[in-house]
Amino acid sequence: MGTGKLIVLTGPSGVGKGTLLRSLMERHPELCLSISATTRSPRVGEVEGKDYYFLSRSAFERMIANGEFLEWAEFAGNLYGTPRAAVEEKIRQGQWVIVEIELEGARLVRQAFPDALRIFILPPSLVELEYRIRSRGTETEEAIARRLNRAETEINAASEFDIQIVNDDFEKALDRVDTALFAPALC
Ligand code: 5GP
Repeated sequence: MGTGKLIVLTGPSGVGKGTLLRSLMERHPELCLSISATTRSPRVGEVEGKDYYFLSRSAFERMIANGEFLEWAEFAGNLYGTPRAAVEEKIRQGQWVIVEIELEGARLVRQAFPDALRIFILPPSLVELEYRIRSRGTETEEAIARRLNRAETEINAASEFDIQIVNDDFEKALDRVDTALFAPALC
């Protein structure tokens, strides 16, 4: 059995973390992706238990009270959290587990898992980020404004992370994430 590892992927909403992750998982199906819980409503096409566990606020708060989250944070008016048990169990089994989370959660994870590999994905610019969030067509104007506001704070924290990768050219960014995981000496 190999040595388990936690990989934290963060970066502002709309930067393309989810798309990078999906492609990374196709290249490396042995990686485990942690499924988060959220109080946000599902977007069209999102599937319970695959994209998220969609919970009511009271169910989420019960999980907080029971210590069931490795980390959790409020983001743009909704709660998001990483269920602790699945992550800890997979790491114990020697698997590599990836959590895709926002900045505050990533900071909290550092306390619990100081050895986690922490990667920050940056947009080429804020203008491009806004364009990507709008093209998704899933957010109200208010939600877009909240996400962009938060993005500036998040981007300013990029240097706290082990590795920063700009998602300008998708394939290059994917190769860089791949290298960070599997050939870190080359980073
Ligand atoms: P979205 O609503 O666009 O799916 O996610 C909004 C933000 O919440 C994204 O930056 C995403 O990475 C983050 N997020 C998703 N799951 C978690 C989680 O379990 N914990 C934390 N802290 N952030 C999360």
